[in-house]
Amino acid sequence: MVEAYKMYIDGNFVDSANKVTFESYNPENNTAWSTFPEASIDDVDKAVGSAKKAFKTWSVLDVKVRAEYLRAIGDQLFDNAEHIGRIETIDSGKLFKETKFQAQYMKEYFHYYASLLEEMSNEKIIQDIDKPDMEVVEVSEPIGVIACIIPWNSQMFLTATKVAPALAAGNTVVIKSSELAPAPLAEFAKLIDKTNLPAGVINILSGGIDTGKILTSHSDIGKVLFTGGTETGRHIIKNTSENFAQLTLELGGKSPVIVFDDADIDNALNNITTAIFSGNGCSCIAGSVLILQNGIYDSFLNSLKERAENIKLGSPLEEGSQMGPLNNIKQVEFIEQNIESSIQQGANIITGGKRVEGCYFPPTIIECPDRTVNTANTELFGPVLSVIKFKTEEDAIQIANDNDYGLSSGVFSEDEEKCKRVSKSIEAGICFTNCYRFISYAASFGGRKNSGYGRESGSDAIRDMQLKKTIWVSKAKVTEDPFKIR
Ligand code: NAD
Repeated sequence: MVEAYKMYIDGNFVDSANKVTFESYNPENNTAWSTFPEASIDDVDKAVGSAKKAFKTWSVLDVKVRAEYLRAIGDQLFDNAEHIGRIETIDSGKLFKETKFQAQYMKEYFHYYASLLEEMSNEKIIQDIDKPDMEVVEVSEPIGVIACIIPWNSQMFLTATKVAPALAAGNTVVIKSSELAPAPLAEFAKLIDKTNLPAGVINILSGGIDTGKILTSHSDIGKVLFTGGTETGRHIIKNTSENFAQLTLELGGKSPVIVFDDADIDNALNNITTAIFSGNGCSCIAGSVLILQNGIYDSFLNSLKERAENIKLGSPLEEGSQMGPLNNIKQVEFIEQNIESSIQQGANIITGGKRVEGCYFPPTIIECPDRTVNTANTELFGPVLSVIKFKTEEDAIQIANDNDYGLSSGVFSEDEEKCKRVSKSIEAGICFTNCYRFISYAASFGGRKNSGYGRESGSDAIRDMQLKKTIWVSKAKVTEDPFKIR
């Protein structure tokens, strides 16, 4: 039976005002398994209106009470991780062991921002003010209603990194789930409801591009937290020219990983496998370009090929599966087209390269002469590793930076000084040294260049959800000439 989900507006589970729905597909068998309301302009208006109303009381609520609500949301995620994980896996194709882990771990994000909220002060006296008889205080205030736009992958993670600091700072939110996998957020709404969070503090809409456009350009939205593709990011920038909403953009990536001759080979092999093949390669930080030094090039590539060919593809719900299906057929076709054109540009397939069946795509390694080849410069969001040979450290850095993206990167060498030098020279928001694919609530996350701007996670994120107000207080009556510049 096809499950009919609802949206969550003003504390109620509702259909869209015009009753329009859309289907979501299970990528394992490419069949529709659930339906969702397509939020109309009226629904967006209702959700934003509800969040605006809730802001009045939520923003001034005692911090201890606010913190307890945050902890309760985190606890619900932890207690229901198995269920949320299963639903996310059915809807997106991401492995169950990952979706379950992420739902569980997201508890930590809500608890972390709850603790920060209890500890932080929102008032700072400016000490070195040069005006006599003046006291100047900088006050940090919540922004208002924040729109959160979520892509189809890592939904609970990408929701927690936005919602936890936004609520902690005193804002209310309207979240729009991805039309490609909206179920986890519809399930998240049920968990929020159990916490008795005041109505309107979190609203969850389902819908596609039009819903996203209406929401991000709405006049009552003060900030947009967006995660998605770089091209969509360009649209979001245009949408917010309507309402001057502040923006955090977490966009796509084409992350280079440099392996030097003096690396710990086994460790590098393990981490390259994680970087590109775990999560089916559908990760914004996937290390999709391997820059490999000439001394170990052939032997390393041989071992990597062997590992790739031993990866177990299977149902994403099975504990033993190491890779599942990609999210949709269009993604599979996009990858195949790019591989095809790359071969014409001089690339050479080492393993994989063609779909297995349905949305299943095998681990693929492709040797590229340089980064002008399509698979080496385009985000494919799949298990495709482009490999480029280098001789010197300067060459490696040049190849790593020869791209418009700047999200993640990696460097593998047993020479600590070399690792430090290289990690400083790479134009990216994240660099993993002798490791790959770690996240933490306490470590900031985000990109540079066409991978976006602003940061999520870490202690600064809560400040990014606030606005500063400068309050001047005169300690003496001003009796001097009113036309004198002060
Ligand atoms: P997408 O850009 O197609 O869609 C993302 C969201 O934007 C969806 O909810 C979609 O409905 C909405 N949207 C689309 N057009 C819009 C518009 N004009 N106005 C408002 N909203 C609009 O991305 P996707 O395919 O769902 O996800 C994959 C992409 O997300 C990849 O590029 C990946 O790298 C990126 N991503 C980035 C990060 C990060 O933290 N940097 C994390 C995960 C995924």
